[in-house]
Amino acid sequence: MSRTCPFFANSASIWDVVSQSIMWCFEQQPGGPAACSDAEAETGLETGPRRAVVCAGCGFGISSSDQAVEVDGRHAHTFFNPAGILFEIGCYREASGCIAHGRPTDEFAWFPGFNWRYAACGGCGQHLGWLFESRAGSAFFGLVLERIVELGSGGEDLDA
Ligand SMILES: [Zn+2]
Repeated sequence: MSRTCPFFANSASIWDVVSQSIMWCFEQQPGGPAACSDAEAETGLETGPRRAVVCAGCGFGISSSDQAVEVDGRHAHTFFNPAGILFEIGCYREASGCIAHGRPTDEFAWFPGFNWRYAACGGCGQHLGWLFESRAGSAFFGLVLERIVELGSGGEDLDA
């Protein structure tokens, strides 16, 4: 099977290191990965006013700030991809503006028990991150933060 995503394309060894660190993050989180899809698990995250999260490329609505979930006390995680490039992802419980595609796989899985698929912008098709789905039915999105924008609190009230 061919893998076109550059973040997963090359070295498995570096990826293993990344995977280990993220696994550790999840292990430190009360409730574990399953908590990501549990509405009652929304604790500890300072959400404040609900703000739109949009594609940085085209402005298409991707998610919202109240969908952000914390992993190991942080929403955003910085790490190196297999090519040694530093980047940052944010975890979101739901990202309705994303289109998940590709066959679910556990190759280079970041999170134990979770398969991943690609997540693309529903507006422009840009690859924004990944959808992680557990066999138990829980799921969350890991979105590359430089490819999304959380809009300011003025003028984008999604609850209006
Ligand atoms: Zn877009």
